[in-house]
Amino acid sequence: MRMTNKVVLITGAGSGLGEAMARRLAQEGALVVASDIDFAAVQGVVASIVDSGGHAEAEHQDVTDEARWTALVDAVLARHGHLDVLVNNAGIALTGSAEDTTLADWQRTQRVNLDAVFLGTREAIRAMKTRGGSIVNISSIEGIVGEPLTAAYNASKGGVRIFTKSAALHCAAEGYGIRVNSVHPGFILTPMVENALAGMPAEQAAAFHARIIDSIPVRAMGEPRDIANGVLFLASDESRYMTGTELVIDGGYTAR
Ligand code: NAP
Repeated sequence: MRMTNKVVLITGAGSGLGEAMARRLAQEGALVVASDIDFAAVQGVVASIVDSGGHAEAEHQDVTDEARWTALVDAVLARHGHLDVLVNNAGIALTGSAEDTTLADWQRTQRVNLDAVFLGTREAIRAMKTRGGSIVNISSIEGIVGEPLTAAYNASKGGVRIFTKSAALHCAAEGYGIRVNSVHPGFILTPMVENALAGMPAEQAAAFHARIIDSIPVRAMGEPRDIANGVLFLASDESRYMTGTELVIDGGYTAR
């Protein structure tokens, strides 16, 4: 049990990677507060964790809502007395090149993927600064390397990567005992990837899918548990000397 007595808040936990993280951390003894904009989905995840003997609670949260962040973190503190881990996982992936992305899609992407990571990190620091903690921000390989068809997503995830380092250095300088790290998943088969493919014309989607597999050195997409295990390590005290780092889990994609 690597997460006993730890209270963990995971955003976007109703689906995909966030769901896998919620299950994995609960398996290791964490009390998981799982939030999502899709409340029914996250209630389903929590019910299944509780059914298998874990501790979890469902919360409705739109991560772009500043007031909701404050209210939710206050509610966690009131119920449990402390918050030990925040995983800023919720995200969206809209496709579009630098030439054909609309300003509305660009701004929506930054609001969900980047502004919300800032809001969550700021609230978590407020909650954790007297007893320490771990903040894990989910970036992407696309926060490290460019992809022609995901201009707004690239920009948002690159922002998460470097914002994480800024927050880590601030917390270290203040002596808060709060570690802040980013995780960079490669291509993992989740509803996000399925939806991104579904949003493209069939021929373009088939070519994109083939190009993804061709470009991964291990010739396979990852599974949600591959990312959940990395998050578990950064969330637990096993990574106590790590802050401001990037954990890349990508089947070798960015090794070249
Ligand atoms: P996913 O299956 O689409 O799950 C994301 C969850 O976040 C969904 O339940 C979604 O709800 C929720 N969400 C969306 N907007 C939200 C908001 N404003 N407030 C709260 N929740 C919101 O995606 P995923 O693949 O698990 O991705 C999780 C994270 O990993 C994202 O940050 C993504 O960028 C990152 N990532 C994924 C991959 C990959 O290959 N899958 C690779 C690199 C990085 P709705 O379904 O209702 O929108």
